[in-house]
Parts: sequence; C-alpha cells; structure tokens
Amino acid sequence: MLKAKLILFSSLLVVLLVGYKAVASSIEGRSISALSWAVAGRLIVVDPGHGGDDPGAVGRTGAFEKDIVLAVAKNLASILSQAGAEAVLTRENDLDLSDAGLYDLHVRKMQDLSRRVALANNREADLFISIHVNSFPDVQENGAQAFSQPGSTEGRKLSRAIQHELNRFLAYPGREAKQVDYYICRMVKMPGSIVEIGFISNPEEEKLMLDPNYQYRTAWAIYAGIVRYFAQSAATGEK
Ligand SMILES: [Zn+2]
Repeated sequence: MLKAKLILFSSLLVVLLVGYKAVASSIEGRSISALSWAVAGRLIVVDPGHGGDDPGAVGRTGAFEKDIVLAVAKNLASILSQAGAEAVLTRENDLDLSDAGLYDLHVRKMQDLSRRVALANNREADLFISIHVNSFPDVQENGAQAFSQPGSTEGRKLSRAIQHELNRFLAYPGREAKQVDYYICRMVKMPGSIVEIGFISNPEEEKLMLDPNYQYRTAWAIYAGIVRYFAQSAATGEK
C-alpha cells in the first residue's frame, strides 16, 4: 500500500514538474513575443557564413557548415520579418559573394567578407548577425556561443543577450559570450555578433543541427536575443 502511494506520489511529482517546465517555457516564449515591438522597424543584416566553394566546417557525416547556417539564417530572417523588422540576408543560396573565377583563395575570401561588411555598412543596418558552426578536434566539445568585437560595448551587450537565449533554448547550454577579434565584426559600423550555433565535430550536435526543427529553434533563440537586446536598450534609454 505504501509502495503504491509512493509510486503515485512520484508520478504526480513528475507530472507536476513536466507541467511546470512547459508552463515556464510558454511564459518565457510569450514574454519574448510581448517584447517583439522592440525589433519593429529595425534593419538587421543576417549573414550565413561561407557558401559556394567554401563549405566552412565539415562534420563527421559529411554535413557542411554552409548549408546549416543558410537554413538557420533563412529561418531567422523570416521570424524577424514577421515581427516587423527588415531582415537582409548577405546570401540566399549556395554562393559566396566573391567574383566567379578568382582562384587565389585568400583574395577570394577577403572579397567575400568585405562585400558582406559593405552590404551592412551601405544599408546602415542597425545590427549585423553572422551565423557560423564551430569545430574542434575534441569531439566532446559542444554548445552554442556568441562572439563580439573587443572594445564594442554594444556588440558585447548584444552577444550576451543572444547567449542568454541560446543557453535557454538550445541543447548543451553553459557557454558564455566572448570577445574575439574577427575581421567582419571589426569592420561593420553597427553592433555585431558572430553566433557559433554548435559544434559540428560533436556527432550528436551535428545531428541536431541538421534537424529542421532544431534549426528553427536556433533561429528563434537568436531572435529572442535580438529582441532582448533592443528591449534592454530601450529600457535604459540608449537607443
Ligand atoms: Zn564559419
């Protein structure tokens, strides 16, 4: 009898906990939706890394970074548009921005990157979000991470807001936003963040990143970070 009661109690506890988690996440989701006014009218450049002959990092099953980040970037652009922002993708297909026929890889890469920067600067975008996939020799490494340019206060705030949501919505939470010098974030005139959405060198994370549902979830997490960043800026009267 006692055993039956215990089983009943523990299953009740499980139901309560699962229910609580679902409610908590729906409240969190709603609060982001309630803040979506903060992105309305903003111009946001969404930059899927690599493309064309440059696959970016390659996973153990042969998955390419360039394909994963394009899918996530397209999801992000459509979520932003639905919220009333103007989202501009630096590429919409499997091509980088360099001239065809350039065979010096370094020249090609610089041309590609500088055109991505020029697009954002010429359009006077409010934010620049570059999406990438990480890779590391140790297959255990996992988790998404946002990077900003050293010395950029706004870039840092943006990356911290995005990191907060990556840790809340994605598998393998726990990383912290970091400042690292990258050409693209150094050259853009607006706050920028490079979001490494996960490790393609980790077989489980590679599998997740190939799942369209997880790709959408990742886009949503980045979107939530952007919303949080603008809402915080509005609350402190900065922008
Ligand atoms: Zn990359």
